[in-house]
Amino acid sequence: MAKINCEVTNCSHNKSGECYANCIDIVGSSAKKENDTSCGSFLDKHHYSELTNNTLSSGSCDCLKCTAETCRFNDNRLCNLDQIAVSGKRAEYYTQTECSSFQLRD
Ligand code: SF4
Ligand code: SF4
Repeated sequence: MAKINCEVTNCSHNKSGECYANCIDIVGSSAKKENDTSCGSFLDKHHYSELTNNTLSSGSCDCLKCTAETCRFNDNRLCNLDQIAVSGKRAEYYTQTECSSFQLRD
């Protein structure tokens, strides 16, 4: 099962809708909703080409750091979900991406 399903297919780490970065950083301190978060590891393929064959990585991404401590799934700046979804089709900047799995803590 992919840890990160990502619709940002123009990201260098994206392969068929899965993230293949070694580790990603979701950012969004004091986020109140999904679009207050972003994937800080986004790299536009136009500038960085494909990185999905990264030799340091054994497969799809399984390391998920996150500064959105207002999210109920955040545990000491790590995400405790088995799987998240990242959205932001055709993003040009990382701020145009977001973690769609964000849920505000009660
Ligand atoms: S936008 Fe983020 S989650 Fe999506 S493929 Fe790129 S680095 Fe991975
Ligand atoms: S679900 Fe929450 S804790 Fe997990 S990456 Fe998304 S915003 Fe961060």
